Amino acid sequence: MERRKFDVAIIGAGGAGMRAALQLSSGGYNVAVLSKVFPTRSHTVAAQGGITAALGNVTEDNWLWHMYDTVKGSDYLGDQDAIEYLCRMGPQAVYEMEHFGLPFSRLENGKIYQRPFGGQSRNFGGEQATRTCAAADRTGHAMLHTLYQRNIQAKTHFFVEYMAIDLVRDGEGRVLGVVAFDMEKGEPLLIEARATLLATGGAGRIFQASTNAFINTGDGLGMASRSGIPLEDMEFWQFHPTGVQGAGVLISEGVRGEGGYLVNGNGERFMERYAPHAKDLAGRDVVARAIALEIHEGRGCGEARDHVLLKLDHIGREKIMARLPGIREISINFAHVDPLEAPIPVVPTVHYMMGGIPAHYRGQVVVPARTGPEEAVQGLYAIGECACVSVHGANRLGGNSLLDLLVFGRAAADHIVEFLKENPASPPIPADGTDLARSRLARWERRQGSERVADIYRDMQRIMQAHCGVFRKAEVLEQGLVKLEEVRRRLDDAAISDHSKVYNTARIEALELENLMEVAFATIRSALARRESRGAHARDDYPERNDKSWLKHTLVHRDGTIDYKPVRLKPLTVPSFPPKTRSY
Ligand SMILES: Cc1cc2nc3c(=O)[nH]c(=O)nc-3n(C[C@H](O)[C@H](O)[C@H](O)COP(=O)(O)OP(=O)(O)OC[C@H]3O[C@@H](n4cnc5c(N)ncnc54)[C@H](O)[C@@H]3O)c2cc1C
Repeated sequence: MERRKFDVAIIGAGGAGMRAALQLSSGGYNVAVLSKVFPTRSHTVAAQGGITAALGNVTEDNWLWHMYDTVKGSDYLGDQDAIEYLCRMGPQAVYEMEHFGLPFSRLENGKIYQRPFGGQSRNFGGEQATRTCAAADRTGHAMLHTLYQRNIQAKTHFFVEYMAIDLVRDGEGRVLGVVAFDMEKGEPLLIEARATLLATGGAGRIFQASTNAFINTGDGLGMASRSGIPLEDMEFWQFHPTGVQGAGVLISEGVRGEGGYLVNGNGERFMERYAPHAKDLAGRDVVARAIALEIHEGRGCGEARDHVLLKLDHIGREKIMARLPGIREISINFAHVDPLEAPIPVVPTVHYMMGGIPAHYRGQVVVPARTGPEEAVQGLYAIGECACVSVHGANRLGGNSLLDLLVFGRAAADHIVEFLKENPASPPIPADGTDLARSRLARWERRQGSERVADIYRDMQRIMQAHCGVFRKAEVLEQGLVKLEEVRRRLDDAAISDHSKVYNTARIEALELENLMEVAFATIRSALARRESRGAHARDDYPERNDKSWLKHTLVHRDGTIDYKPVRLKPLTVPSFPPKTRSY
């Protein structure tokens, strides 16, 4: 197998991977960044609404208020040390991007433009705050291009259209690099590195209706899981309240931030009933459940009463054209509606994975130890959507993910620098170090079979959608698990035809599907085990939050066994926000 050697291997060229890479390359380290797609096509490019940080440019603000909102938004499952770090570092992270050249929208006085987003308050639960910094409605696009340009300048080495297959570990559990696959040529490549950073993004493709890109297949989670690392809090999936009905494409929360609101089939502004104070800007889990209930109870819109409407024509042409031009385009293209004139048909759509690879707030991957609470996996880091730090707990607030990419991207890079100084030599790759990856690649060489990968893929998505949606209960989840097992067995009989091997697309799809399966099983098993309702996880059979038994993180292993670990309620320097009833 061809080999290359670097100080650090970063899997993923989204906002998280590129922020970390920039920090390391600028520091003189030799960094490889692998991506399945051209870097600026990573899903971060699709982020619309913005990045949240307490700059106080529009209304008075304080990072402690941001911290309070994030803890409450997480339904108290977020770890408060990590949340403090996120919110305290927020303004610095945004100013760094401004100085790198990110073209933010501006206020009259020249400061960075900010808009109100859901779950934001002043003074610990008071009036609505205005905290999300934006570059019109294409903030992620601006961020990703800025980071890419800076990385080119810093001489980061990009491996474009290389798919990481599996981690390389030695007998002591250290991670020594990764085996990748050249997607065009179909050849394997061993990347040896003293530190490996997973930044592979989300896995929304386990569901049928998703705002996520087709490449968001949870590869980092699959790799972690296969190398013996459990996955944390996988029952928590955010359904975004406003995906375009039928298409799944996202309509940013920024629309409601700019004054848009939801109406049901009776023309009623129903969020006033569910969240009298915050209304349409309540937490996303709250709004998504309200929509699902309106539809379920027959108050949906259209002939089939299967969606609600997002009205924004009243906010005026000028504001829509200046602040939400991309949204207007999406609406015209995917809903065939011009929002200047008519409301957009929307439904709750899977959007974001709060769970992921268990990581510390400085990026090290941590696992339950045989003795003591947890220990770091030497040489392995995880950041961004694939990681569970956990700052988003049971429900993420809008705009907090882009912030998480920057803050933990930099924090992980800084920790890696310390690690590299302490570990100047790379341990040798053991003879069997690449076996896991080799056997997976061999499994998906050309082969005979009676099943099509695409059919299995689609059936998995249908099962997850039907059995693990906005509202859940034991019976339905159990049936889902049985069906999922049947579907996974069909993979053994899947064919890779000669023809499709030309561009390796069928092999890649099969490899991705294996990763999605890991994520789907972890999700449904964790959801079945958690017998309470918290944040995005709503159980019909256990409708209340239960802090006495369930104020803890789930850790699900590949064999289905589950451990739990306590929520870290103690922040780094400030007093804790103790759990209380969550209302908006
Ligand atoms: C439509 C949409 C709008 C959003 N809007 C906002 C918003 O306004 N504000 C906000 O805060 N959040 C928003 N989010 C969430 C946020 O954008 C994402 O959580 C975040 O961008 C994820 O960044 P990431 O760096 O972790 O991963 P991504 O940007 O998804 O990048 C993942 C990278 O990993 C690579 N990769 C994956 N698997 C492999 C593999 N096996 N081998 C090699 N490379 C691999 C991919 O090629 C890619 O480069 C939005 C999400 C979506 C889907």
